[in-house]
Amino acid sequence: MNFVLVVADSLRADRISGSGYPRATTPFLDRLAERGVRFERAFTPVAPTRPAIATLLSGQSPLTHGIVGKRYPRRPRAAMFSLPAALARAGFRTLVVDGMADRGGSPWLRRGFGTQVALGADGSRPRAQEFNGVIRDWLARRPGAPFFVYARYGDTHTPYLPPPRYRHLFYEGDPTARNLGSLASFWERPHRGYFVDGWERPLREAWPDARGARIEDVGFFRAMYDSCVRAFDDGMEELAAILADARALDDTLLVVTADHGESLGEHDLHFAHVGLHDCVLRVPCIFAGAGVRAAGRRVGEAIELTDLAPTLLDLAGVPPPAALDGRSLAPWLAASAPDPRSDRPRLACEATYRASWALRTATHKTIVPRQPGLPVEIYDLQADPGEHRDLARSEPELRDALVRELEETLAAALAARGLDADPVAAALGRVHAPRARKRSLWRVAQRAVRDVVHRAGAAARLATGARGQLWERRNGSSRPEATAQTM
Ligand SMILES: [Zn+2]
Repeated sequence: MNFVLVVADSLRADRISGSGYPRATTPFLDRLAERGVRFERAFTPVAPTRPAIATLLSGQSPLTHGIVGKRYPRRPRAAMFSLPAALARAGFRTLVVDGMADRGGSPWLRRGFGTQVALGADGSRPRAQEFNGVIRDWLARRPGAPFFVYARYGDTHTPYLPPPRYRHLFYEGDPTARNLGSLASFWERPHRGYFVDGWERPLREAWPDARGARIEDVGFFRAMYDSCVRAFDDGMEELAAILADARALDDTLLVVTADHGESLGEHDLHFAHVGLHDCVLRVPCIFAGAGVRAAGRRVGEAIELTDLAPTLLDLAGVPPPAALDGRSLAPWLAASAPDPRSDRPRLACEATYRASWALRTATHKTIVPRQPGLPVEIYDLQADPGEHRDLARSEPELRDALVRELEETLAAALAARGLDADPVAAALGRVHAPRARKRSLWRVAQRAVRDVVHRAGAAARLATGARGQLWERRNGSSRPEATAQTM
């Protein structure tokens, strides 16, 4: 049996149309899931990409393999397991297609891969067709041995610039029109550059109806993201055709998942995979093809990215080492479903933006930042699965009990691995979120200058608006062209 493990970078689970999303984002993945098994509650225990991929390819939690942040720490712990190395020892030919597989990057990622293609390492943002081309060429050269392909596709990552034929699937009109206003407060944030970082302009310039100076409608970014999801979905259809052409489709298990989701404006986090809310932690997970005997099954049990490596080992007949944190999902792929597992509390962390821990119990999500000045958040996952209502202020006793449960769960997890310090707390000082700081004279002066600039801009806009109204009164038009261009 062969394995093809596809990771769509930043693909949110709730954007899969077969899971109830109203836009037709994933017609091919929906058909694939009808022939396979879909895990509807799959989560990553960490974000962003680097620690999540370390988790996926090791079957270990971030506390076990040691990589908790985007760049921190540089090396994993010695106990880190390698799925590709284990499969290579069992006779598999192995291919990685991932921008992080370049020579200077992450040696742990290249371990066990006979062929390493760091597609996108130059920042070129290749599309699905280019990933597929690498896989097609490699398959054309392979001898008879079973193979394992792992590829991280970048279509659904920022800057959400889909190929031209996808751009108008889900959006029409001018996203810069000021009356939309849903991003007005975002553009006022001093920290906005962390989230947008210059890629909004090419996106705006590629949009023929955009007349204003900045995108005001968060719905536009969401629609472009959805168009990128559709482009990725078409890429998966092409990949299936490539496997069929290589006469490998019947012998291959195709797994499609994501390293993490994406924040598209929820919780005041925009266009990034930071924070520990479910828009970031919940990922799609579809198994189809060889080894899957339960066509169309939807699994509601909570699973994690740590479970994928033990699953592939199980299906390959390779005994898993004791140091794995995940458990094989193979019983769910069999004809008759296993008994339900109990929903054990699960930790998640991020040490890139805020340095936070989260605990998911059967009923609640608790988020505890290690960074001073940031609040604890708690959510009732049964009454409020979208995590819209933070109960931390209104239910202080529940909050304290949940925080205690989180700290006790974390302390036990650290002790089980012989760790005496919290690696997320140790990442403080390396994270990006602005801290709550004392008001220094310099910051007061900065603030005053910003206020003056802001007021001058507002006055100019007012003057433009007044001129526009004057123009309207004189000319009887509802929307003078000159005013529209300055908005
Ligand atoms: Zn990623």
